[in-house]
Amino acid sequence: MATSTRRPVIAGNWKMHLTVAESVSLAAEIQNRCARFRDVDVIVAPTALAVYAVAKRLADGPVAVAAQHCHGADSGAFTGEISPPLIAAAGARYGIVGHSERRQLFGETDAGVAGKARALFDHGLTPIICVGESLAERDAGQTLVVVERQVKAALEPFAATEVPRLILAYEPIWAIGTGRTATPAQAQDVHGAVRALVARLAGPEAAAALRIQYGGSVKPDNIRALMEQPDIDGALVGGASLTADSFARIVARGEEP
Ligand code: PEP
Repeated sequence: MATSTRRPVIAGNWKMHLTVAESVSLAAEIQNRCARFRDVDVIVAPTALAVYAVAKRLADGPVAVAAQHCHGADSGAFTGEISPPLIAAAGARYGIVGHSERRQLFGETDAGVAGKARALFDHGLTPIICVGESLAERDAGQTLVVVERQVKAALEPFAATEVPRLILAYEPIWAIGTGRTATPAQAQDVHGAVRALVARLAGPEAAAALRIQYGGSVKPDNIRALMEQPDIDGALVGGASLTADSFARIVARGEEP
């Protein structure tokens, strides 16, 4: 395991999968399987339709709920959107912003992601801010240029004292849903560079406290090696979060779940 004092945080992003009933049932099973792991924050992100029902089912803890997406405004004529105060009132405590699928398929920009992160934060929700490069950008040697640009923009609306209460998720796009994980060393290189950037932007204390998740084909058999890296503080998990067994084994990080 990483030797830092940062509390690990493992989140499951269920994307556009599962009915409300299926989501509640999976959440209950995850709660059951993960309750004994008290040294880690565990989060599930169901569809917006299921956030309320899942949060209600998980009210006893310790598993928390995240929204997968939000609008930056509190309310208004934005058909189909959901806002941070509505997400908070539904019982979620976290919100994912800037997922690469949102950036690539729905045109989300660095500035838009930053505004949404700020809006979530202002309503008492913890933003999980995703960053990551495409395969073409990696092959062109642009990984750190891209990721540092995204991180810099995302942190722009935050004071240094607020940074420890954010979560960053480094998700190389080429590793998402492809079965192709970044090696622990590749991930650590980027995590280390991101933490160094945060130290320059917000100071060493904020950088030391900020949690940075890795995401991209995380599975029960690779989580341990990833978590052994000094700057990897958890995981954002897609496919492997859709069954309680594989997600619980990831939460267990190599122990028996
Ligand atoms: C994700 O969508 O954030 C993700 C990391 O997916 P997967 O684990 O399936 O690669």
